Amino acid sequence: MSQSTEHREFQAEVRQLLDIVIHSLYTDKEIFVRELVSNASDSLDKLKHIQLTQPEVHQGHLPLEIHITTNEEERTLSIADHGVGLTHDELVQNLGTIAHSGSKTFVEALKQAGKDGANTTQLIGQFGVGFYSAFMVASEVDVYTRSCQPEGSSYVWTSDGKTGYTIDESADLPRGARIVLHLNEADAEFAKPERIKQILAKYSNFVGYPIFLNAERVNTVEALWLKNKADVSQEEYNAFYKFTAHAFGDPTYTLHFNLEGNRVIKALLFAPGENMELWGMGQMKPGVSLYCKKVLIDPEPPKLLPEWMRFVRGVIDCEDIPLNISRESMQDSALVRTIGETVTKRFLKFLDQEATDNGEKYNEFYAKFARFIKEGVATDHDHREAVAKLLRFESSMTEPGKLTSLAEYVSRAKEEQKTIYYQVAPSRSTIESGPYLEAFKARGLEVIYLYEQIDDYVISSLREFNGKALKSVNSDQLDLPDGPPAEGEALSEESTNGLVSWLKEKLGDKIVEARSSQRLISSPAAALLPENEPTAQMRHMMRALKQDTGLDQPRVILELNPRSELIKSLAVKKDTDSETATLIAEHLLDTTLLSAGLIEDPQILATRSQKLLELLAAKL
Ligand code: ADP
Repeated sequence: MSQSTEHREFQAEVRQLLDIVIHSLYTDKEIFVRELVSNASDSLDKLKHIQLTQPEVHQGHLPLEIHITTNEEERTLSIADHGVGLTHDELVQNLGTIAHSGSKTFVEALKQAGKDGANTTQLIGQFGVGFYSAFMVASEVDVYTRSCQPEGSSYVWTSDGKTGYTIDESADLPRGARIVLHLNEADAEFAKPERIKQILAKYSNFVGYPIFLNAERVNTVEALWLKNKADVSQEEYNAFYKFTAHAFGDPTYTLHFNLEGNRVIKALLFAPGENMELWGMGQMKPGVSLYCKKVLIDPEPPKLLPEWMRFVRGVIDCEDIPLNISRESMQDSALVRTIGETVTKRFLKFLDQEATDNGEKYNEFYAKFARFIKEGVATDHDHREAVAKLLRFESSMTEPGKLTSLAEYVSRAKEEQKTIYYQVAPSRSTIESGPYLEAFKARGLEVIYLYEQIDDYVISSLREFNGKALKSVNSDQLDLPDGPPAEGEALSEESTNGLVSWLKEKLGDKIVEARSSQRLISSPAAALLPENEPTAQMRHMMRALKQDTGLDQPRVILELNPRSELIKSLAVKKDTDSETATLIAEHLLDTTLLSAGLIEDPQILATRSQKLLELLAAKL
């Protein structure tokens, strides 16, 4: 080492990551080749783009190729490109730290996945850690590099992948980067040309630049998305998906299409097999790259497709995009908007068709990706109804675990039914044992079951589907048709009125009003939500966002079942033992709030239950 050797430590997250990469990833070691070749290819893409906008790059004549060299005797493997290379600062920034802002979360998730015995390799490469995979097989990695910027020098970066690295100035190097791996004894296979050739065979045809292995050309550059659909096999699609998405498994869906309208748009899109956001990894970046006639314009264009479609991977190629368009102006470009719009519509139609043709497969996909669909309904104003078609849920007419759609709900509904009913509650049993469902069952009306807090928000953004309004079963604004004639003797109208005004007096501000119910069949009472009162789920969200200042105890409409024995007894008790009757009335209200998910302080229920039990025990 020369005197000017600079020693630096890796950022803590990189050290953790390396520790995991080196010690926990034994399977699929060969992916490091893909990661390094893909870095070389990215670097060539960047160079091509710079050449379009900047008059001069260093050594502009060098060919855009990737050269791989093996040396069995020295047990080394090198991967070289004439791409953008790295400046001194870029070496420190890009190879000493993890650029991704969620790096900490990533390392945590990786550790957790390791503990759970999950397939940790799935995570590598998804979050900008590809380069470090070299340390799975190498005890030392050297990066010889010269940046494409006209000013600058050549450097050698060296590390054993443990605590830190060194940077030395070097004699003049050609533009680009050459990564040299000094392989572990156990990983000597990766210095064998046949082994590398076999690995490259899997994906090298998707790399947009010529690849040479020991000076022999190994790939034919082909843009799969420009080919005719009939000429591509599913195996080729899968291999391409794995290469572009850095994925391990196969995609769930593949959509390849050509649109020849005003614009020629060719697209190859994939819905992945796994949802990485479920791994606690933070938000994915958009994963559909934009090309113009095979030239990469932007690997992750931020506003090409709607935000909720960020899980989709693949390529869109449009001949009409100006090659030197800048990222900023691209976002505002009407052309890019048209492309995004066209592709989004096509993708939505495709998913809807897939869901119809093979419901079981779609439901499996939905189990993993429902969050994105829901986000789409809530946020994508332009495609709301089309995305809503993709929603799935259980209902009062499905068996547990079986899913249905809004369109199916509508097809089952009677023509005169103007409303789609739903209830948001933690589980099927909560809904089916609560007081709301009975009115709908008795009238043969289907109720959608929604189990997640965000569903309430999603459904209220949707508002209606196929011209039918979506309303919660606990809304007081429902115009329910007449039910079947009620059984059993009801409290007289006079006694009911007496009870209602007594309740209003005793419960005071806690209720908006008390009234006799047309809906209840076996439950004694239920809480209905007046029009502008925040729902249980909204309250939950406001609290989570700390916007709950001024959030009062909810004020509900208390509906009473005049046929219920409890209500009939209460009507008598209020005149004979007002104190006990008040206790019962308060408790009844709180249990209806509990069923509505609106109870603010459950302890009140416990305390009062004890008092009531005391009274009961005294009577036994
Ligand atoms: P990712 O490629 O996902 O960003 P990596 O860990 O593979 O993450 O690489 C980190 C960074 O190092 C890259 O973003 C890039 O800036 C730089 N880099 C890696 N390989 C090369 C290369 N062959 N030429 C130039 N820069 C490179």
